Amino acid sequence: MAKFCTSCGSPLEETSKFCMRCGTPAEAPGGPASAPPPVAPAEGAVAAGAPPTAKAGSPVLKIVLIVVAVLIFLGVIGIGTCVYGVYKVKQKFGGMVEPGRTTSSGRGTPEVHLE
Ligand SMILES: [Zn+2]
Repeated sequence: MAKFCTSCGSPLEETSKFCMRCGTPAEAPGGPASAPPPVAPAEGAVAAGAPPTAKAGSPVLKIVLIVVAVLIFLGVIGIGTCVYGVYKVKQKFGGMVEPGRTTSSGRGTPEVHLE
């Protein structure tokens, strides 16, 4: 790869950083330390700038989901408590109506002697 001075147009050595004739700094396509620095910060800025926009929407969605979940949970508990209360009352009345069924069937068998 031949390099030429941007000022006077004379051929330059690949290793030379300045023109031998006029002293103008040589333009280095694969230069040591002139071009790379501006590129890296730009990539870092883009990489750091993208996530916040994506994260901005998720917390709100999370909170909404949590609130909905809590409401559903409370609703289930409320319904469950009501159903359980009704069931308990029914069981109480049911037990008073037919108390002998469960006791007789449970205690009846041991009384049978097989001698
Ligand atoms: Zn030159």
